[in-house]
Amino acid sequence: MNKPLILVVEDDAPVRNLITTTLKAHDYRYIVAPNASSAVLEASSHHPDVVLLDLGLPDLDGIEVIRKIRSWSNLPIIVISARSEDNDKINALDSGADDYLTKPFSVEELLARLRATLRRLSVTSNGADAESAVFQNGALKIDFPAGCAYLGEEELHLTPIEYKILCLLAKNLGKVLTHTYLTKEIWTNSGENEIATLRVYMASLRKKIESSGYPQIIQTHVGVGYRMLKS
Ligand code: CA
Repeated sequence: MNKPLILVVEDDAPVRNLITTTLKAHDYRYIVAPNASSAVLEASSHHPDVVLLDLGLPDLDGIEVIRKIRSWSNLPIIVISARSEDNDKINALDSGADDYLTKPFSVEELLARLRATLRRLSVTSNGADAESAVFQNGALKIDFPAGCAYLGEEELHLTPIEYKILCLLAKNLGKVLTHTYLTKEIWTNSGENEIATLRVYMASLRKKIESSGYPQIIQTHVGVGYRMLKS
């Protein structure tokens, strides 16, 4: 099996070195890019498995790098940013990033995110993707043609909106979906008010899942959105 190739986009040399040393020690291959223009170039010429992307770059904002890469590729992008503001994370996720890490981060956290992203890739390439008729994640099963969801043997009795939320999270397994993304997908003319409504639906969806005796499968990212965890 080929070792995964990681593109590290970071202008700060000490942080870059920390990341590449970690990758090397854990059997990843890597290439580096110190700015946005070389990041786009390296991504298109080397087709890495994952991009680790700093948002604060000297030539262009990292968000622009996400947009450029997304114009031709779905390769996973994990944003690494010193900016702790939720808005930057949300912009990055809405522009097509898959996940984010906030600086300062631990080496363990970085490795865990990489593993999760690579696992999600292998799930997708095994055909258990959004095109499949039946989605299975641990005890959770969704039969898309029938429009039914199950936990173990029990059918979940969901409202149409709860079902829609569950399907969106399932089709983006492992990925953080922002409030804006979810509300846009669910309500066509969405505004600020829908975020509060979304929280209400999400709370009731969770209650139904958790009262069925299964551990939490939907993770809340406060101020950002929600993610379905891979079981
Ligand atoms: Ca930087």
